[in-house]
Amino acid sequence: MSIALDLLAWYDQNKRDLPWRHTKDPYFIWISEIMLQQTQVETVIPYYLRFTQRFKTPQELSSASQEEVYKYWEGLGYYSRARNLQASAKMIVEEYHGKMIGDIEKLLALKGIGPYTANAIGSIAFDLNVFALDGNGLRIISRLYNMEDNIALPKTMKQIQAIGDELVKGINAGDFNQAIMDLGATICRPKNPACEKCPIVQHCLAHQQHRQDVLPINIKKKNNQDIHYITGGIYYQDQLYLIKNGPDGLLANLYGCPQYIVESPYSFVEAFKEDTGLELDVIDHVKDIKHVFSHRTWYMHVYLFKLNSASKHLYTKKEIDKLPISTAHVKVLKAIYSCLEF
Ligand code: SF4
Repeated sequence: MSIALDLLAWYDQNKRDLPWRHTKDPYFIWISEIMLQQTQVETVIPYYLRFTQRFKTPQELSSASQEEVYKYWEGLGYYSRARNLQASAKMIVEEYHGKMIGDIEKLLALKGIGPYTANAIGSIAFDLNVFALDGNGLRIISRLYNMEDNIALPKTMKQIQAIGDELVKGINAGDFNQAIMDLGATICRPKNPACEKCPIVQHCLAHQQHRQDVLPINIKKKNNQDIHYITGGIYYQDQLYLIKNGPDGLLANLYGCPQYIVESPYSFVEAFKEDTGLELDVIDHVKDIKHVFSHRTWYMHVYLFKLNSASKHLYTKKEIDKLPISTAHVKVLKAIYSCLEF
């Protein structure tokens, strides 16, 4: 049998029982796909159930207050997702008579929907014959075909998308895309793939050549002059948490927001706790800011965090106006103020 048919037969018998798999309503599929962005399946389930019970249609979501929508999102983080959902629900009501349309271009026009999500909704809810490529797809296909190409390159992604498009031809692409998701989560994991349990092992060239542990090749271009920070707009009531730099270094004696070279806002929370003993909640992504110094470039990925207790490093806006702030952090503060009503 073909790769696709073997995978579909396995999915039929082994698919995870997830609440959004009991419906084909595009609205519910859309909510689940947005919640699943950067969030684990187990975390999403109770949020999905509560959210869809309260907001049963795009109409109900569009007419709710933003405050209430945020309340139902509280704890999931990345509030921009909730904001985009509501903005898109309004667009669906106003432009599409309250119904989502099974057209990839129209799905892509909705806020917060990129190519993966559009193809996932299109295939699952509307039976469109499209392949939804995400990290699982990149990894599994590059292993299946023993590809040595760097999956971080757009050229390779295109190649893998084309292979996926071929694989779904003439089959149920929605099930195939969900099967890839389940296979990637349970068997063809990033580390230690369980090839002995894999339903498509007989097709897998990486397995035949014992390359499954080294594939995919994923090399992100690094430039030593580029530094990526997670920068924290940390607030407590109407105050912001700032730190003063030491007497040496690039921004000596200037004030700014705390920042760490870490992968995610959640690692920021851990680093901050280790440094200060203080607890934070991740609230939202604010903006990505680039600041060029003469010999290096900072990429500041600014997030909003809520501090859970008072601290001596907190300042009101009035106080901050009198502090010496580095130009890079003036940009950061401006972005933060646009989200907070101080
Ligand atoms: S055989 Fe192993 S490496 Fe190949 S697709 Fe299956 S789990 Fe992944």
